[in-house]
Amino acid sequence: MFFDARQLEQAHTIDADICIIGAGAAGITMAREFIGSTTRVALIESGGLAYDDKSQSLYEGDNVGLPSFDVNVNRLRYFGGTTNHWAGHCRPLDAIDFEKRNWIPHSGWPISRRELDPYYLRAQPIVGLGPYEYENLDFWQNEINLPNLQFDENRLSTVVYNQSPPTRFGQAYRSELKTAPNIGVYLNANVLEILSNNNGRKVTGLKLACIDGPTFSATAKIFVLATGGMENARILLLSDSVHTKGLGNENGLVGRYFMDHILLRPGADISLSDPNLNVSLYSALHRVHQSRMFAILASPEALLRKEKLNNFRIHLLHRKPAYPAPLGRVMSRLDKVGGSDDPESGLEGHELRKAGRDAISLHMVLEPTPNPDSRITLSSKTDLFGQRKIDVNWQLDQKDLSMAYRAMELAALEFGRLGFGRAYGAIFADAAHWPGNLEAGRHHCGTTRMTDDPKTGVVDHNCKLNAVSNLYIAGSSVFPTIGYANPTLSIVALALRLADHVKANLAGRPS
Ligand SMILES: Cc1cc2nc3c(=O)[nH]c(=O)nc-3n(C[C@H](O)[C@H](O)[C@H](O)COP(=O)(O)OP(=O)(O)OC[C@H]3O[C@@H](n4cnc5c(N)ncnc54)[C@H](O)[C@@H]3O)c2cc1C
Repeated sequence: MFFDARQLEQAHTIDADICIIGAGAAGITMAREFIGSTTRVALIESGGLAYDDKSQSLYEGDNVGLPSFDVNVNRLRYFGGTTNHWAGHCRPLDAIDFEKRNWIPHSGWPISRRELDPYYLRAQPIVGLGPYEYENLDFWQNEINLPNLQFDENRLSTVVYNQSPPTRFGQAYRSELKTAPNIGVYLNANVLEILSNNNGRKVTGLKLACIDGPTFSATAKIFVLATGGMENARILLLSDSVHTKGLGNENGLVGRYFMDHILLRPGADISLSDPNLNVSLYSALHRVHQSRMFAILASPEALLRKEKLNNFRIHLLHRKPAYPAPLGRVMSRLDKVGGSDDPESGLEGHELRKAGRDAISLHMVLEPTPNPDSRITLSSKTDLFGQRKIDVNWQLDQKDLSMAYRAMELAALEFGRLGFGRAYGAIFADAAHWPGNLEAGRHHCGTTRMTDDPKTGVVDHNCKLNAVSNLYIAGSSVFPTIGYANPTLSIVALALRLADHVKANLAGRPS
């Protein structure tokens, strides 16, 4: 059932078993898991069913760190969240991404890839993807009949990516949420604060308000915060009535370890010796097995271990003229109505082929080293409700630059060795500084990280706040490291796992 919160009476109280805050990929996935049950779910969403400037303004913030992305336009604040303009590139994290890697400080998830495998399988159709097959390239290639580049497998291998339509969660799942009698979706309902008891160990309710409407509240047994990788931290920091540092922030970790993928688009260009070199497997989308896929290059686990590298991927694209800066900004605003974090690989094959054949660009996506100084904090500026906005201070570890260099060098060496062409790139000219085209991937992670030790993380292996008995976090803010894969398939898998845990908890069978 849908409710417009602006129609509620002043001081109304929503009463539910579970309150889920935020109707994006994570929140909608969680809520759907309770359809058909007797559990009363309130899904609280800040925006309405369509984009609105006033609601979106509540997401404004400043970028005070490395120049990366426009904080104001990347996230979307209405039903469906940022999936209203995500690009749909999908792949699970690799097993190695979950490991404590002694060359990556602060690495190591408290859960393994194996533990998440069944949830990835369940996440696949929810995100609108076909067969769950990421390991076996032949499964796809036999149908497509396009060659993969025969690089030294100890250095670079061809890896499968899946492409979602992309599923807009707000459209795809609207009608089933609307007809579910036990799910109440409250639109235009902004959580201003998560309220807790005197010692801050139990959430007692939510303080809510509409932009042009009443202030009201919500109570529940269990609360799930699912407002995205930056806003999850902001809401905890704003929830400071009991603990002045914010809810769950006794160790000062909320907002720290903010991570995003490190993008160089391009990291290098290859001037091709043979203009007919066929890279279509990588540069175009292929419709096959009632699904869509493309391939990327990545390094095998053994090399990552041997050379102590962060995980990375490389996209191969026919070279196109770079957008000049002002147009780049317009493009980023257009993202609101259908954007892409890897726009080129979101294009269909014929469009890519038009772009030129004498050169290809290597677009690099690198896993960042978790860095406590990279963080989201509250600024002194305030939004329409008088709530403090965010400052985004994206920082990278010094070592990440040498990782980026090595990733591009590996590719350059392989293209050269096979006689495909020569590599050119700013990173080869000046390995001591980030090239001017350094960007962040718009994948906001790490600000409420999951660890086994409460002193080093904000949530435990069940995604429950360490210090609070009934508050959970869904979304990429719990990722302690982020590999190279785009996050949404993992966000959905973790939301399914969390739903199972909450169900068991409500049934008195804690998992
Ligand atoms: C341009 C772009 C392209 C992308 N492409 C890809 C891709 O190809 N592959 C991939 O895996 N990922 C991609 N992503 C990332 C993807 O969009 C996110 O990982 C995903 O949407 C996160 O889901 P979420 O539910 O955690 O957050 P969101 O989808 O952002 O949802 C959060 C929800 O919380 C609501 N909310 C916020 N604050 C409040 C509040 N105070 N009270 C109530 N509700 C609130 C918001 O309105 C929103 O609906 C892309 C992102 C961008 C910006």
